[in-house]
Amino acid sequence: MAIVFKRTKILATLGPATDTAEMVENLLGAGVNGIRLNFSHGSHEEREIQIPMIREASKKIGKPVAILQDLQGPKIRLGALQDNHFEVKRGDEIILDYAVAEHDGSANLPVQYNLAEKVKVGEPIYIFDGKVRTTVIEISSDTAIKLRVENDGTLMSKKGINLPDTDFGGDILTPKDLKDIEYGLTQDIDYVALSFVQSPEDIHNLRQILVAGGSQAQIIAKIETKAAVKPEVMEEIVKATDGIMVARGDLAVEAGAEIVPIVQRRLLALCRKHGKLSIVATQMMASMVDSPEPTRAEVSDVANAVIQGADTVMLSDETANGKYPLETVAAMKKVILYTQEHAPVAAIHDIIAKNVQLDAISTAAVTLAEQLKVDAIIAETKSGATAATIAAHRPNLPIVSVTSEVRAAQQLALSYANRSYVRDDAAEAGFDLFKELKAEGFFGEDEAKVIIVSGQQPGIIGTTDTIKVRVLK
Ligand code: PGA
Ligand code: MN
Repeated sequence: MAIVFKRTKILATLGPATDTAEMVENLLGAGVNGIRLNFSHGSHEEREIQIPMIREASKKIGKPVAILQDLQGPKIRLGALQDNHFEVKRGDEIILDYAVAEHDGSANLPVQYNLAEKVKVGEPIYIFDGKVRTTVIEISSDTAIKLRVENDGTLMSKKGINLPDTDFGGDILTPKDLKDIEYGLTQDIDYVALSFVQSPEDIHNLRQILVAGGSQAQIIAKIETKAAVKPEVMEEIVKATDGIMVARGDLAVEAGAEIVPIVQRRLLALCRKHGKLSIVATQMMASMVDSPEPTRAEVSDVANAVIQGADTVMLSDETANGKYPLETVAAMKKVILYTQEHAPVAAIHDIIAKNVQLDAISTAAVTLAEQLKVDAIIAETKSGATAATIAAHRPNLPIVSVTSEVRAAQQLALSYANRSYVRDDAAEAGFDLFKELKAEGFFGEDEAKVIIVSGQQPGIIGTTDTIKVRVLK
């Protein structure tokens, strides 16, 4: 009997509720596989402490952990308002002016981005998570735009602004993002998430900067704009990126909440087809920010993400600011374990791997694994591509990957059913690994049947050519 192993991964956002070495260790112990550092908040000085803290905790529990740098992107915010608020009525005209340093109580409001450069007359602008809807009626100056307010409401300091119809023309990276990327290049980071992606161009632009900076981080495209969910654009973005996040919070504001479930299902299918990582994010267990129990709807939401074959489910406020971060992770893990036990993810057959051979080998390995009822698939992998391609099939068993690359092992921490071990010589390690897996209780007490996928030239990408069946005692 194999041990209980959670195949869908959990990505937790670090925040005031969890920002200590002890809490990070507890999160990992409770089942968290990756940590999101939300660069919309916090300083580089704080990151300087958090990143080594996460690596230390990962060493202590003996499992690779993914660190994801989440860039703010063009999530534009109001500046500070006098007395922290400003009342508006339907029909009012207000101005958002990048040049206003301090709000004087008038309808001339400060904003943290020069919207005059991007927006056009007639475009909608939503403020405060869509609570106040406005339309651009004039580009008033080089720095200011005039808006007509469509509904009564209250604006508050630093609230977010959504621009659902504004085309950023492949230029979504803000000066802040560029600084944060540059900082990330100096840090031990596995993934960079790009907010408000509109086109494959946005991914290529970020990729260029990362590659030029010598980064091995993979890119997660956050799908949260109308432009990105256009049928002809969505698949192109999936092809261009290493993974996607279904960023349901902003997606609902920008494109309508009703489209989110269908977009989620499409994206998860596209990610499997192209062997890309998928993350379902936002409000998965939102009520647990204040409550020790999830709602029935939240349980159902997590279970559905599992059934639809997400690699990873994400927690935001629940672990960043919530009262019950560890209880939330525990509740999520329980739902994942029960669901995976009772509803296997449907098999798909149109996987498009990095190359034909890898595709053929991984398909054969998964078929063999199912027919022979093995306990695990062991994959020797350098870049992680072999393990990720096997994972795209969503087999109902652990994928143990052995890699010489620490970065690949950390990235695979978010990959479906993956458990990575870092070994310098993958061929030698295969032998040690058996003992190690047994010692960890991975296969329980009994003998285990495994499939080993490897290459005759371990470490050389694209040379995966061997499938072996072994019984381990
Ligand atoms: P955020 O992204 O939490 O960085 O806004 C996720 C979302 O919009 O759902
Ligand atoms: Mn967002």
